[in-house]
Amino acid sequence: MANKSIKDLEKKVFTHLKERGWDNLRPADLAKSIAIESGELLELFQWENKSLEDVKNDKEKVEKIGRELADVLTYALDIAVLLKLDTEKIIIDHLAHVEKKYPAKLMKKRVAGEPGTEALYWKIKKEYRKKGL
Ligand SMILES: [Mg+2]
Repeated sequence: MANKSIKDLEKKVFTHLKERGWDNLRPADLAKSIAIESGELLELFQWENKSLEDVKNDKEKVEKIGRELADVLTYALDIAVLLKLDTEKIIIDHLAHVEKKYPAKLMKKRVAGEPGTEALYWKIKKEYRKKGL
């Protein structure tokens, strides 16, 4: 499916749902399914906290993560498609929101482990929550 747009993927998902008579699923059931599958993804990390490199080197784990992510992403696309949401737009809008909320220049320091920036991240998050954003 190389070089396909997200619009093509939305169409494929809609056809998949329609062919099975799943094009009338309730949004709440899909939202629950996303949470359930997210739990299955999280379970893969239960009682461990490996680094990115360690997880990448565990091919079996990466395969399992891919399967659970497919579950989560597919349910997310199902709900977006059935509600006629523009997936590309909502993701781009979200990224713009995050860029404004957590400027890359500021956050890069946090990732690098600079002292004090963790507190800054939480301070920004708390301020946004107070504003209801
Ligand atoms: Mg699953």
